[in-house]
Amino acid sequence: MLVFKFGGASVKDAAGMINLAKVVSLYQDQQLLIVVSAMGKTTNALEKLAKAYFDQSDDIQDIYESIKRYHYDIIAELFDSSASVFDDVANTFVEIDWMLEDEPQDSYDFIYDQIVSVGELVSTRIVAAYLNKAGLKAQWLDVRGYIHTDNKYREANVQWDKTRESITLSIPEQLTQSIIVTQGFLGGTSENFTTTLGREGSDYTASIFASCLNADSVTTWKDVPGILNADPKLFDDTVKFDELSYNEAIEMTYYGATVIHPKTIKPLKNAGIPLLVKPFGDPTQPGTVIKEGVTNVFKKPVIIIKNNQVLLSISTSDYSFVSEDHLSDIIGRFAKSHVKINVMQTSALSFSVCVDYTPEYLDKLLKNLNSSYKVKYNSDLTLITVRHYLHDTIKNLTIGKTTLLEQISRNTAQVVVK
Ligand code: ASP
Ligand code: MG
Repeated sequence: MLVFKFGGASVKDAAGMINLAKVVSLYQDQQLLIVVSAMGKTTNALEKLAKAYFDQSDDIQDIYESIKRYHYDIIAELFDSSASVFDDVANTFVEIDWMLEDEPQDSYDFIYDQIVSVGELVSTRIVAAYLNKAGLKAQWLDVRGYIHTDNKYREANVQWDKTRESITLSIPEQLTQSIIVTQGFLGGTSENFTTTLGREGSDYTASIFASCLNADSVTTWKDVPGILNADPKLFDDTVKFDELSYNEAIEMTYYGATVIHPKTIKPLKNAGIPLLVKPFGDPTQPGTVIKEGVTNVFKKPVIIIKNNQVLLSISTSDYSFVSEDHLSDIIGRFAKSHVKINVMQTSALSFSVCVDYTPEYLDKLLKNLNSSYKVKYNSDLTLITVRHYLHDTIKNLTIGKTTLLEQISRNTAQVVVK
């Protein structure tokens, strides 16, 4: 059996839905489980809604109405007005209608997951209905009863044993009857609350299903021809990899390549399941295959650009050396505040750390650090990571920029620049 994942860009409008059905129709002789993200930029819009609701600001209904309108406009293009998908979608939105009527009682992260999850619940309703309309028998599945997680909202951890048990119990049988369409990015707790697996987590969902079902492969359908050595929006002489090793793919995602979610590869590598990255606009193209036994020769370096970075420089309050005890205390505070470290470097008197600018977490961390350390910070920076760098790569990439931190190892160079 095969697992497919369609991201937001592939289902951003009616044409995308029609194209999805065309891609799926090429695989009618296979058992298929399809994981779908929220449509277009819906997750960002729902994040705004969650924030507006939490802050009880004036624009809650405006934001919510425009999200609904976006979906209903697309449904209206695809279906007759009597189609049952209108009710299915309306009933899905009801899940948050009720919540929005009352004032927020719970933590922001909990509220976020209950609201943001609607994006995937709705997109999958539309995809399943449209596949059926196109004559491809499909069944909608609520992933929250299959992917079981703890209650770390917004970054939930999968409970693998329970998840594997649920997935293997009924899904193989269902796959002999029809295509299954389910939500990426979501999970459910033992109390039946909705969780999310971290932004862009739908790839990970696909890999969880593939690993539990021992799929022949996972394909993630993208708006690029495959995995490229750099972002084609930023560089014009990019090359596509025909094949990549699991390890290289893990390294690339670790350093911030957004083409695949970082947690995706490990379950596939453990089960020896190949991951294909293919263009949804040209489905017969081979794309990139990530699998065992590939030895890559890198004629061009792999370049990963991460914008919106902050560099913290942390010193002891009495300017004594930064000792191992300090380091372990400081890193503990990062972990507690959910701030992930992208690069770190120590010197005698300070510890420098480059992180993503995520105000909700960073403000808390800064307050915490300021109680015991001196902290300086620089924002609006860019982290450039180059794997398999060549002699001049770093020099060329940093021309005209000020380098604030540089770290070079055998395979990887990282610079933080302004
Ligand atoms: N819709 C979610 C997001 O935009 C998950 C995903 O697309 O993978 O982060
Ligand atoms: Mg996405």
